[in-house]
Amino acid sequence: MAEERPILIENDAGAARPGILRVCLYSRKERWARALKMLGLMWLLAVVTVFIPIAHFVLVPGFLIAGPVTAVMRFQVSESVESASGECPTCGEAMTVALDPAARLPLWTYCTPANDPIRLRNS
Ligand SMILES: [Zn+2]
Repeated sequence: MAEERPILIENDAGAARPGILRVCLYSRKERWARALKMLGLMWLLAVVTVFIPIAHFVLVPGFLIAGPVTAVMRFQVSESVESASGECPTCGEAMTVALDPAARLPLWTYCTPANDPIRLRNS
């Protein structure tokens, strides 16, 4: 499920424009699915690395432990940001900036048309 939230796009001169942050929200079911997928992937890697001589002494227990650890971390993620769009306060161009899923506001990034440094924050 996607959600749009109002944000402010600022530059270092203090000018601000309204913008939109697109966020993907995970339901409880989706969070379980994502967590189990991660667990499955890690344990699959543990099985595959059994066949790598010597390295398997480290890799197999490593992936076996990483499975539940990464699954729990995945389960705790209830939302991920996708992009921010709005007008750049410096150059005035309309833009959409793709964001790292783990990104949290406020954050500094660059406008896509002119690479101006901009700050995204919750309004
Ligand atoms: Zn700009």
